[in-house]
Amino acid sequence: MKNIVIVGGGAGGLELATFLGDKMGVKSRANVTLIDKNSTHLWKPLLHEVATGALDDGSDALSYRAHARNHGFYFEQGAIVRINREQKYVELAPVYGLEGDMIVVARRIPYDYLVLAIGSKSNDFGTKGVEEHCIFLDSQEQALRFHHKMLELFLKFSENSALDEIGEEESKQKLVQEGKVNIAIVGGGATGVELCAELYHAAQDLSSYGYGKIDSHCLQVTLVEAGPRLLPALPERVSSSVLAHLQELGAQVKLNTQITEAEANKLHTKNGEIIEADLIVWAAGVRASSVTQQFDGLELNRINQIHVKDTLQTTVDESIFALGDCAFLLQENGKPVPPRAQAAHQMAKLCYKNIVALFDNKPLKKFVYNDKGSLVSLSKFTALGNIGKDDKSMVIEGKLARMAYISLYRMHHHALHGCLKTGVLILIRHINRFIKPALKLH
Ligand SMILES: Cc1cc2nc3c(=O)[nH]c(=O)nc-3n(C[C@H](O)[C@H](O)[C@H](O)COP(=O)(O)OP(=O)(O)OC[C@H]3O[C@@H](n4cnc5c(N)ncnc54)[C@H](O)[C@@H]3O)c2cc1C
Repeated sequence: MKNIVIVGGGAGGLELATFLGDKMGVKSRANVTLIDKNSTHLWKPLLHEVATGALDDGSDALSYRAHARNHGFYFEQGAIVRINREQKYVELAPVYGLEGDMIVVARRIPYDYLVLAIGSKSNDFGTKGVEEHCIFLDSQEQALRFHHKMLELFLKFSENSALDEIGEEESKQKLVQEGKVNIAIVGGGATGVELCAELYHAAQDLSSYGYGKIDSHCLQVTLVEAGPRLLPALPERVSSSVLAHLQELGAQVKLNTQITEAEANKLHTKNGEIIEADLIVWAAGVRASSVTQQFDGLELNRINQIHVKDTLQTTVDESIFALGDCAFLLQENGKPVPPRAQAAHQMAKLCYKNIVALFDNKPLKKFVYNDKGSLVSLSKFTALGNIGKDDKSMVIEGKLARMAYISLYRMHHHALHGCLKTGVLILIRHINRFIKPALKLH
């Protein structure tokens, strides 16, 4: 039986493994194996909500092993480190336990068809100090690290305010600027904008959970963007409306501001300004992992994405496909398919059809990206964006936009679980609103 191996169980890869497992694995037409470096899947566009605690990763994370059992595919945990195209295997790094002990040794997994769906990470553009002093929001662990640091800062702030009242100056814990929790976000794209709004939401809610006198006035978010406007991929009208919303919440937005260096609690800008912050998040741009350089001569672009043809097969090896953020494909309009969840979702669907076509000796289909628009959620405050294609696109805001925004996640659930389970998950989410705190507090 032929081996189909998918590396990366994210927005695109997990959907593909589910489709292929249901179609080929269950019917024993092929062995379908999904590989991921983690043991659970969390939909990446929600990481900013995990970071602020608006979403409990515990209830939304999906176990790959459990999902594999229900959908006729195998799961192998490990990070890909190399591909051997001649002998057709991928090599996985060993898996280490919490104490640093090796639990699983390095392995070789053979394939007949290989799909690479390892996503992307934030691009620090080689800026000095960013790796050491900024938090990225690329993974569940990083979002949780941010969450714990955010709670620590608000606790420090609320305890300091209590000491203010009894006149205890010396016992105070230091924050970079007295009287506020300062958080800087570099990157005015969707991640930066959505995180900024979620932080003001968190600050508003925390006081009801015993965090002293915290409210949104105790928080100062500085959002830094190198370009002339926020959300450059969206229409100008959406950018200016988002800017107005964020400023109303209290955020300080610095446009045309390029960061040249990061230090502990400090950012240096090109024009010599210093931005101080208790916590710095880097959410500017994306690039694929440099591990793609070990993929045995696959063609890469300058940000390590893998060149694919419109069938999603790589340009140099037709038995290897790539999809989602790690793939590079130019559209007819000359623009690359953007690194978005909706693109990963559409690519997973086409890749599934093309792999089935290879088994059935039928011609492969071409990928055409159907841009349904882009939406950003400003937490509970509002959502806005555009729906529809370029010339026929329409700007929407408020409840309708919020519903359209949530529908993208529902589509992912639908692809993974089908209608009935998606309905049950929606119900559980509503029930959880009654029985759980609005914010995750641990
Ligand atoms: C905070 C945030 C908000 C976003 N909001 C939106 C939004 O509103 N709308 C939208 O369309 N897009 C949004 N995006 C972008 C969207 O998340 C990505 O475009 C999408 O997840 C890409 O899907 P993917 O399958 O290519 O990769 P991912 O979903 O990133 O999945 C990659 C998978 O590969 C695994 N992996 C990585 N390296 C290795 C390795 N070496 N070995 C094995 N496994 C590996 C990872 O663990 C992960 O499971 C957002 C992104 C972020 C960070």
